[in-house]
Amino acid sequence: MDFFKKMDVTKNQPNDASVEGKDAEHVKCLIIGSGPAGYTAAIYAARANLKPVMVQGMQAGGQLTTTTEVENFPGYPEGTDGTALMEDLKKQAERFGTEIRWGTVTKVDFTGPVHKVIVDDSKLFTADAVIIATGATAKYLGIPSEEKYRGGGVSACATCDGFFYRGKDVAVVGGGDTACEEATYLAGLCNKVYLIVRKDFLRASKAMQQRVFNTKNIEVLFEHQTKELFGDGVVEGARLIKKQGTSDEKEVAIKIDGFFLAIGHTPNSEVFKPFLETDETGYIVTKPGSTHTNVKGVFACGDVQDHVYRQAITAAGTGCMAALDTERYLAELHS
Ligand code: NDP
Repeated sequence: MDFFKKMDVTKNQPNDASVEGKDAEHVKCLIIGSGPAGYTAAIYAARANLKPVMVQGMQAGGQLTTTTEVENFPGYPEGTDGTALMEDLKKQAERFGTEIRWGTVTKVDFTGPVHKVIVDDSKLFTADAVIIATGATAKYLGIPSEEKYRGGGVSACATCDGFFYRGKDVAVVGGGDTACEEATYLAGLCNKVYLIVRKDFLRASKAMQQRVFNTKNIEVLFEHQTKELFGDGVVEGARLIKKQGTSDEKEVAIKIDGFFLAIGHTPNSEVFKPFLETDETGYIVTKPGSTHTNVKGVFACGDVQDHVYRQAITAAGTGCMAALDTERYLAELHS
């Protein structure tokens, strides 16, 4: 398959010779990551008797555990709590025999026919097939009040949380396609949307910019940076610095109930990069229409390979695909 040959083989060097010699546990199917993609892959893999072992990762349950209510995951007419949803997926995966282990993958070696995965620098797994479902992490500004109001007005997902701000005033930070898309989405729900842009232009595509400029209830605040959020327990406003670092610098305050970050995501792919093809922003490249990576027997699903949709349900869908691709791969391998 040409796709597998595209990779520069000189990059395929084991990144730690000390992989050898550690106590190894061999598994048929190792799943890395415990968000909707990982758990769905686990449910399908376990039901197919692949005896999956899942390494949970740093944030057990993934990004959904940082949101409050989830109303757009099919099957929950009244909505559900993000953490509860992930607990249900976990139980479902365990019911069919998935073994779930604590730990974070610190190194891999995908050079041989059997894949090596090291957890917490101490435990070595060898696996016939590996499913990567490590997700992506939303970037935050890094200001202390952002942390303080997490779950109290600060969100990094308008599609997930926008509905809770119907008729209210909110702000979106960022000037890229995501920020413009989130701002126009929120404009359909909210009374007013401020788009806080640090430069004097939008980086987003022209079409996306036009949508923003044509939407009456979006006000673009160019050359503004967020200093801090304020409010009694929940976000009630933001203090911004206009034209920071110039002689015209001044502080302005806006009254808002919701503060949405849209300054990009970082795919959690770093540890795999020596072996897997990634795009310029770090997303793992999968063969179109499948979850195959450039290494045979290594599959990727969910947000670590999807910068477009990034929804729990699409992640779950690709998790299912990864398990089916794995099942077929292992059947061929052992035939
Ligand atoms: P981008 O990296 O394109 O944009 C990030 C934005 O956040 C930039 O405007 C950047 O500002 C701003 N930013 C970054 N850090 C800070 C900070 N500390 N303070 C204030 N602002 C900050 O990320 P996106 O998520 O928007 O897009 C990622 C990729 O996905 C892009 O290729 C995009 O085109 C694509 N995409 C496509 C969509 C579509 O086609 N429908 C929808 C969404 C995304 P600055 O410009 O000053 O660097």
